[in-house]
Amino acid sequence: MQLQLQKQNAIMQPISNDTELFAMAAPSIVRIPCQWNKLDCRPVVKAGQKVMKGEPVAVTEGVSVHSPLSGKVKEITTADNCEGVPALTVVVEADEEGEAVTFTPYGDWETTDRQTLYDYLQSAGIVTTYKDGITYVKALPPPDAEITSVLLHGCSLSPDLEQGEDLPEMLHEAVSGLKILMTLYPKAELIWQSEKGSTLEKILSQFPQARLLSETLTPFNIPMRAAMQQVLGHTLVEGCSPMREGLLPVTFQQARAIYRAVSLGEPYMEQLVRVEGNGVEQPGYYQVPLGVNLGDVLVAAGANEKLLAKVVVGCALNGTSVSRLDLPIGKSVSSILTFTHDEVFHYQNRPCIHCGRCYQVCPQKLLPQKIAAYAERQKWDLAEQEGVMFCGECGRCSFICPARKPLLQLIELAKKMAAKSNIN
Ligand code: SF4
Ligand code: SF4
Repeated sequence: MQLQLQKQNAIMQPISNDTELFAMAAPSIVRIPCQWNKLDCRPVVKAGQKVMKGEPVAVTEGVSVHSPLSGKVKEITTADNCEGVPALTVVVEADEEGEAVTFTPYGDWETTDRQTLYDYLQSAGIVTTYKDGITYVKALPPPDAEITSVLLHGCSLSPDLEQGEDLPEMLHEAVSGLKILMTLYPKAELIWQSEKGSTLEKILSQFPQARLLSETLTPFNIPMRAAMQQVLGHTLVEGCSPMREGLLPVTFQQARAIYRAVSLGEPYMEQLVRVEGNGVEQPGYYQVPLGVNLGDVLVAAGANEKLLAKVVVGCALNGTSVSRLDLPIGKSVSSILTFTHDEVFHYQNRPCIHCGRCYQVCPQKLLPQKIAAYAERQKWDLAEQEGVMFCGECGRCSFICPARKPLLQLIELAKKMAAKSNIN
């Protein structure tokens, strides 16, 4: 596969006091994914209309979606989001005027009533995301929802700091955002899913009541569904929101966006994306306007077209491998992994040798090979009977398989198709 990179809009500059955080220059055009998971989405602009930076262009499930550019709405269309799922998309072309709306900081969040704070966060575009087969982007639950756990997930806490070294500014902002979030859900316990390190210890010291997920059960960066199930203590029904069960997943990026909205008056119109891997020369955190092309972010990070062989949006085990780089960055994209030709693990789908390793490593005690075989024959009902819905999508079966079968991909497909047939 040849991934095409275009040298445009790829200017980057370090943000003050943050050695690992870079800001992308404003692009000439953005395609803002406004619709998530088929939720009710209402554009509030029309094609041809002038918009200012920070102005809402759509409202999705009560949450505003803002333009990161001053410009003109070129079109409102349906286009693929970063996972290749069609979504209502507002396309904005930049103008020279650079006008921005004034978004007033919230101010004193510690003594306010929670409903007012919640309404403000909705208008600032704050959402939560989690991956469960597909990536869900959801509005925060209302403040009277019975949220008992806030799960901080998907965070890679590099750099690992030396004793005494201060936290980078972005982590201070994320910590402040988490404090605001915990005010909104005062009965909730804060739970961390992350690798241990001095950075994490510094952050944890500011939340004395927080706890880490059990290390014995939680290898580094376990996928989201397994982490949520571990917190809940039971299997999460496919398609069922964890928030209905009192669990609110949140990322560092979202916590930082909460702080920046409340304290700086900045709506959520830029995404903090961690770019990693040997396919780029300058890995790090990139602050990018919503709707920028994936390829532009990679160029900003110094991607080399000759080296770059594979790009995964999300984590290595169960992220989405993309075949195009002209997909827009949305609020669900928090990390991009890059691989060189030498590193790519090519699935070959050779015949199963019945070694049993996939069964041995499956934490859900499923028979991955059997489910994958049903998926290959499009026997979705049999895959369901075999327990596909209980798969936590950890990816261990695919990783261990000596026949290099794309087990996880087949199992994910079976889950989606079984869920679909249950709805129809
Ligand atoms: S991805 Fe594979 S190993 Fe992991 S839970 Fe699903 S079937 Fe089991
Ligand atoms: S690990 Fe691969 S080769 Fe071994 S039983 Fe499972 S599918 Fe077959």
